[in-house]
Amino acid sequence: MTKNLVLAILLFVSLGSVADATVVVHLDVSEVPELADWGNKAKELIEEWHQRTSNLIPTKGFDVPTEVWLKIRKSNRGIAGTSGARITVSSGWIQKHPEDIGCVYHELVHVIQDYRRRVSGWLTEGIADYLRWAIYEGKSQDWFPFRDKPQGYRDSYQVAGGFFLWLESDRCPGIVNKLNTALRKRTYKDESFFKEETGHDRRALGGLCQR
Ligand SMILES: [Zn+2]
Repeated sequence: MTKNLVLAILLFVSLGSVADATVVVHLDVSEVPELADWGNKAKELIEEWHQRTSNLIPTKGFDVPTEVWLKIRKSNRGIAGTSGARITVSSGWIQKHPEDIGCVYHELVHVIQDYRRRVSGWLTEGIADYLRWAIYEGKSQDWFPFRDKPQGYRDSYQVAGGFFLWLESDRCPGIVNKLNTALRKRTYKDESFFKEETGHDRRALGGLCQR
């Protein structure tokens, strides 16, 4: 095969994968053009994982956002944040931790959750970190931090992520999708959801989640 033919095939394959993406990503690196490569990698991450992640937490009749805005902000403060379908990442964080492309995956989950109202932080962040660390990063249960105290699993982020992995793999497969759907439909009730799904009171679950 000639070199040009190989290049043409590679170009075709890469154009094909972008055309197949179920999401349109608007990347803005105008404040920090030197981070364009990182921004493009993050854009590809979103194109690759948008549909996969949407498939993991589907809700009948609910359409996830298919347009995402990704902006790298010139700032030394914070890591990343999401408002609606707009993800912002701080340039200072990327410069210190260029390997942390997975923070964009966590924000992509927030875009897909699309709760459109305030939800308890440990639920929103726990689902995002369960999907990031257990599915996207492929970490096992042992990797997740554990708080040995009543309701310690609500300590948000990775702790709650590990709690959801434990529920999914041990007690209650499918619970993350049910929880996410209840949050989207506004039918979630703090006092009854976990009791109905797991058979255990929310307060007792922390004691069962020993490892
Ligand atoms: Zn978050």
